[in-house]
Amino acid sequence: MNVALITVGDELLAGDTTDTNATWLAAMLNERGATVNRILSLPDDREIITERVSAYSEQFDAVIVTGGIGGTPDDMTMEAVTDAFDRALAPTELTLSDVTDTIAAFAERRPSLDIDIDAEAEAAIPEGSRPLLNNRGLTPGCVLENVYVLPGIPEELEAMFEQVADEFSGERRSQFLYTTEPEANIVETLEETMERFDVTVGCYPDRDAGHNRLKLVGTEQDELEKAADWLLATIDASETPVSRDW
Ligand code: AMP
Ligand code: MG
Repeated sequence: MNVALITVGDELLAGDTTDTNATWLAAMLNERGATVNRILSLPDDREIITERVSAYSEQFDAVIVTGGIGGTPDDMTMEAVTDAFDRALAPTELTLSDVTDTIAAFAERRPSLDIDIDAEAEAAIPEGSRPLLNNRGLTPGCVLENVYVLPGIPEELEAMFEQVADEFSGERRSQFLYTTEPEANIVETLEETMERFDVTVGCYPDRDAGHNRLKLVGTEQDELEKAADWLLATIDASETPVSRDW
């Protein structure tokens, strides 16, 4: 399964906020065997979001969009996704009652706070989409065709992703090896690994840990194991982290 991730927010592009949602989602999807083909951060711009959601929705099996849902003027992801599929935006009975309940619970907890929330706007999702209720916050997400719209607040995103996690799967498998060999000394061996076996190999130097981390990726478990065994026999590598003072 090929998936594209779109994270929305001017704050991401300004460097004010680290895009932990993309990293978290990528790890979760990889764990489930899905392949993440794109991670793209976009500004809070309705037309730009619409354009990319349309294109990625055609190009990939699924698109996950996070951020920019809610009631402030910079939140336009829901509108943009609605435009991408030429739908109307409206609350459903379920999303409206959930939002109303959440507001009531909040008002009860903080009676001194005079909150003024437009529940109908907050509960609005594209017509014909599947609502995803927000267990950790207010604004619902939704699934429209192959596009998943999730919140930007990491805690809310993570809880909502759990509701749909089982819809993501794939054959992608991986294994890590560790070596203290300098990168320059293992170039040919890594090339040969990819020629001999149906795997790709990435080499990721980690100066702090004092090793290069090798990641073997493939779709066949036995190919992965054969490649790892061959590498272990060919260069000075280990299945557990090793380190050296460089
Ligand atoms: P928003 O969904 O745009 O209203 O953002 C709500 C909060 O979540 C803000 O504090 C954002 O900075 C934060 N946030 C949004 N997108 C991300 C992201 N991709 N990674 C981490 N935090 C995010
Ligand atoms: Mg935002």
